[in-house]
Amino acid sequence: MRPDPDCRLCDLCEGRTNIVLPDGDPDSKIIFVGEAPGETEDLQGKPFVGKSGKILTAMMEEAGFSRKDVLITNTVKCRPPGNRDPTDEEMDSCRRFLCSELENASLVVGLGKSACRSLTGYQGSMGRIVNKRTLIFINGKKIPFLPAYHPASTIYNRKYREDLAETMRIVAEELK
Ligand code: SF4
Repeated sequence: MRPDPDCRLCDLCEGRTNIVLPDGDPDSKIIFVGEAPGETEDLQGKPFVGKSGKILTAMMEEAGFSRKDVLITNTVKCRPPGNRDPTDEEMDSCRRFLCSELENASLVVGLGKSACRSLTGYQGSMGRIVNKRTLIFINGKKIPFLPAYHPASTIYNRKYREDLAETMRIVAEELK
């Protein structure tokens, strides 16, 4: 299920240039979920193509796979104004599209706090859950879920970068 090109199910429709749909291999069973499109993503209509996307792409390649091997999406498909966090109401409005993207996944990687909150309800410290597998329920199915740091958070934090590199190694193993 994809949003209508003129989707107006939440207020994020007001400021968007493009609805940002998933990118990568549509048949991949490994799906990365970020928070929301930023300015570059909104202009190009593709997820993770700005600064965070460059970090994500480089770290995938360091681990031996490419973004074409996985599917990359966001909790909401339209850019929140000023790059603020999406609200719970906005994520709930867009959830039907996210769930249809995730329902056949063998592993979902949640990039950052908003994605992890949206998919697990967890609101605590990321440090406690990063790289610890759990299960989420998507359309009645149990799906393995791996919490990870958002690439943007690794720019000035070496420990977060090492943890995200470990996430990528876990995904590389899954792809074998
Ligand atoms: S964020 Fe999702 S639900 Fe909201 S307008 Fe965009 S596509 Fe529709």
